[in-house]
Amino acid sequence: MNRQYHTQMEAARMGIVTPEMEIVAKNEGRTTEFIREHVAKGQIAIPANPRHKGLKPNGIGSMLKTKINVNLGVSRDCKDYDIEMEKVMSAVNLGAEAIMDLSSHGNTQPFRQLLCSKCPAMIGTVPIYDSVIHYQRDLADLTAKDFIDVVRLHAEDGVDFVTLHCGITRKTISQIRDGSRKMNIVSRGGSLVFAWMAMTGHENPFYEYYDEILEICREHDVTVSLGDACRPGCLADATDPCQIEELIRLGELTQRAWDRDVQVMVEGPGHVPMDQIAANMKVQQTICKGAPFYVLGPLVTDIAPGYDHITAAIGGAIAAASGAAFLCYVTPAEHLALPNVEDVRQGIIASKIAAHAADIAKGLPGARDQDDRMADARRKLDWDAQFLEALDPETAKAIRDSRAPEDDHSDTCSMCGKFCAVRSMNKALAGEYIDIL
Ligand code: SF4
Repeated sequence: MNRQYHTQMEAARMGIVTPEMEIVAKNEGRTTEFIREHVAKGQIAIPANPRHKGLKPNGIGSMLKTKINVNLGVSRDCKDYDIEMEKVMSAVNLGAEAIMDLSSHGNTQPFRQLLCSKCPAMIGTVPIYDSVIHYQRDLADLTAKDFIDVVRLHAEDGVDFVTLHCGITRKTISQIRDGSRKMNIVSRGGSLVFAWMAMTGHENPFYEYYDEILEICREHDVTVSLGDACRPGCLADATDPCQIEELIRLGELTQRAWDRDVQVMVEGPGHVPMDQIAANMKVQQTICKGAPFYVLGPLVTDIAPGYDHITAAIGGAIAAASGAAFLCYVTPAEHLALPNVEDVRQGIIASKIAAHAADIAKGLPGARDQDDRMADARRKLDWDAQFLEALDPETAKAIRDSRAPEDDHSDTCSMCGKFCAVRSMNKALAGEYIDIL
């Protein structure tokens, strides 16, 4: 690699402004020095593996625009590469800044390589998912070295970040076995690590050989996303000792990565009641010294299967306004089935709304500009301008067109027709006659 540094963090600490930092600064309306300083401290991560050609770099940090991730990938029930790639590109067009490839069927490498050559969004993976598939061996037959080799393989393929469930240890096994949790472990990767440890009696390989893994991540500038194996899977388990103890370990692992100039994100809950979300963000930011927090939800109630994109968007908005930097989307199919194209679309839009609402609440520069333009377009009853500013113009236009006002008053909509408050006010303020009947 023809550059003086291994990772963005190392460059930042050497005082170098990388081309990726320049792009992030431009996208965020910040100075390059602001970005460099925060990358050096670990408070902004720029996951950008140099082997990911065509990547549009993005910064992830609580002081930046909230980013969203979409989980996709080939599986036994959807193994067509072209269809999955189509979903990926439509997710990117809808505004996803990251795609996590959770492929779990067949030879996963060609799809991963395709993503890293074609997709401009950041690419993340969970190497432990891929380990069983890659070796075509039972979980118990895999060795620590096997897992580490898969991390290396993903890094060499060009992925920008990897989720590693380093935070659970043998102690977690006894904590879970004591039965105090309703939902035990709901993280897929966490459950695999737990199962491997339970079957082999060995320590968590991602914890035990963390330094070796960090070397791989340093060499390829892969950002470590510290997985939260013990994220609560229901409200009753939220903020319990299991979750907090793992978080304390993730704080230690964050510092160890930073000591080697490896960029880190920390993953977070999960199912959390609304009144505990801000406190969760504060605790994470304190323990993990401001490392970007990547939340999977949080889902604010357990009882809405079919609508969990909404439960997650409510939680995601509160979380992001309280310090989370990165939201993992949740679709209406969560807890029920593999999401289809429409589920993916609904999930992305819900996450984008949450992220945008949080950015406004955080007072980010320019965050409300689009809302202000929308308000102007609404006051003028300029429908084309409204569609232009809409997060999902297609849906907005389709709804209006399908239910146009009966009496051809195209300046209003069919909600109030000639009783349109906006129209009446515009006319009243202009001194015009207001015809209602
Ligand atoms: S008709 Fe009612 S809902 Fe439609 S634009 Fe006017 S005030 Fe708004």
